[in-house]
Amino acid sequence: MFHIFKKAAQTRLVTIGYPQEPARIPGHFRGAPRFEFSGWRDARPAADACPTGAIAIEKSAERRRVTIDYGLCIYCGQCAEADRSGAVKITRDFELAVRERGDLITIAEYLLEPDGMQKTLASLHKGLPSENDLLEPLEHKVQERIHKILGRSLAIREVDAGSCNGCEIEIGALNNPVYDLERLGIHFVASPRHADMLLVTGPVTRNMELALAKTYRATPEPKLVVAVGACGISGGIFGRNYATVGGVDTVVPVDVFIPGCPPRPHALLHGILLALGRMEQRVTKGHSASSEPFR
Ligand code: SF4
Repeated sequence: MFHIFKKAAQTRLVTIGYPQEPARIPGHFRGAPRFEFSGWRDARPAADACPTGAIAIEKSAERRRVTIDYGLCIYCGQCAEADRSGAVKITRDFELAVRERGDLITIAEYLLEPDGMQKTLASLHKGLPSENDLLEPLEHKVQERIHKILGRSLAIREVDAGSCNGCEIEIGALNNPVYDLERLGIHFVASPRHADMLLVTGPVTRNMELALAKTYRATPEPKLVVAVGACGISGGIFGRNYATVGGVDTVVPVDVFIPGCPPRPHALLHGILLALGRMEQRVTKGHSASSEPFR
């Protein structure tokens, strides 16, 4: 017994302070790729190397349109390796959750040289976190804020709609002593009837489509749906096929999208807190999402 106390004293407190304190991200963490659009001379090598089609190219005689979809990106880093110009860099960015699917898409249009290289950037429509998607200032501690909105803790029901369980490992980490989600007044529940939020992973398999729709219906208003990971957002590497119907929003309305493959626990926490802002709007305005799934 003394040995256990001694070890606990030596280990000290391991719980992180995020989001009140900045996240400490390991140096080897691979986050989202960033693109230096104005200096990018040739998007073709990166697009060819991308295994998910997150970088897509449309070309006419004089123009090239490059679409980057962070909802498809699995942060593999192959685009940065293939692009020798240094215009593509893998960052440690992880706070990428958004409220609108379209905000994960960036479109750059280039005028071309006769040899097919990009001459000038003609237009840029940039997605990724807009001002609205930054966390509302944490003027109150998160726990106090949740109590103010709901009068109790925030209850989450996790739904694995067909994932590889990579996202589940990260979600499970939220309950460990390092991330300790309950310190914020957020906890997981077993039944959707007790939940305020559905945290949904995976490309939705055809076998889980009905189960997800029923789970959504069983969750009381005002409810939130958070789509987790590239698969939850877009179907990811699986896309839409004989076994999967694609992203979560093909079955139920989604309030927040958390990119990543899988998103690290900090990113999950960021997305959950972003969704909390939406919950606050619903509770204060008495507004609710459609109670019916899309289909
Ligand atoms: S990091 Fe994303 S954009 Fe780059 S190659 Fe991998 S999936 Fe494609």
